[in-house]
Amino acid sequence: MKLVGSDQLVSEKFRPLLILIAIFVFAFSIAFLQGDNPTNEKDIEKAPESDPLDRINPDRIKTIVDPYQTYSFDDLEKDLKKLDKQYQGLLEVKNIGESVTGKELYAVRLGNEEDNILIEGSHHGREWLSTNLIMTKIDRYAYAYVTGEKIGEYNVREILDEVGIWFVPMVNPDGVTLNQKGKEGIPEEYCEQVKEHNVRWAKDDFYLWKANINGVDLNRQYPADWEESDCIGTRYAMNYKGEEPLSEPESQAMYDFTKQIEPLTAASYHTRGQVIFWYYHNKHLERDRAIGEQLSEMTGYQLYPPRSDYKGANFNDWFIQEFDRPAYIFELVPFTGREDTQDLDYMEVEWKNNKEVGLFLSKIANEKLK
Ligand SMILES: [Zn+2]
Repeated sequence: MKLVGSDQLVSEKFRPLLILIAIFVFAFSIAFLQGDNPTNEKDIEKAPESDPLDRINPDRIKTIVDPYQTYSFDDLEKDLKKLDKQYQGLLEVKNIGESVTGKELYAVRLGNEEDNILIEGSHHGREWLSTNLIMTKIDRYAYAYVTGEKIGEYNVREILDEVGIWFVPMVNPDGVTLNQKGKEGIPEEYCEQVKEHNVRWAKDDFYLWKANINGVDLNRQYPADWEESDCIGTRYAMNYKGEEPLSEPESQAMYDFTKQIEPLTAASYHTRGQVIFWYYHNKHLERDRAIGEQLSEMTGYQLYPPRSDYKGANFNDWFIQEFDRPAYIFELVPFTGREDTQDLDYMEVEWKNNKEVGLFLSKIANEKLK
């Protein structure tokens, strides 16, 4: 009992001190919790709805795309992942469908979503230099957007904040892969049919291949005078329009996506000829021709004269008919008379010719096409 009594005595003696310690611990906890708040604010800064420019350090970004190579579907996927990571929400990378063999069809947006223009390439397998060019545009435009740099006379951020760009860099990944890698690049179940539909003298070489893996020319698939449009009668490496419009998943995906985003204008990249096609019974003939003339001056390409007997079914024909807005086809690389000439040799000069085209069209769309 004595011991207990003595303990009680000690407790009583130190009670004020214990109370003081308790108060101190309580106060310290409050201070600690408040000290934690800045971390919470930082977390809020990282939330996806905040401005991507606040998150990206302009000194720590770099250009990613190397267009001076045979640029494959795998390169495209790899670079899109890197771009998506580096630009932390500034770029929107979206899947708009799948090719016949199951490759993803990608679209990438930079700038304003509501008002936009569309730039697309590689409807045709052998014309994949158009993908090199479009991927370079995505890469360099995003870089300049963050750093505040100009491309040519164009302030990238100012322009794209008004009218953004949706890019579809590779409409026909199966055709591109067949052209670049031959039968080794595609699933075995398609090897027999592509051999059957290839240009006869080319045998197992697909250097002339433009179609999708089913032997349908995706750029003859659109519902704009499709019935009357020129066509060969059978599945082939090029120029077969299919049994009905939009029979192929790639053209259907482009059609659906374009109707969804309703671009103010469209630029399509193909190869060979260094010309610009623009005419398809345009209702705003003089407006569309005037823009074409400026594009001709910018690129050094010839503006192709209107042909009233032309029957369409290509993407641009449908676009002009559907939206009453202008659309332009850019044919990269001069005719050389040799189909086996390396298009890559022209990458540098075609970048110079075309690097301002997307910005010019966004600006024009803002001023004249809204
Ligand atoms: Zn083409």
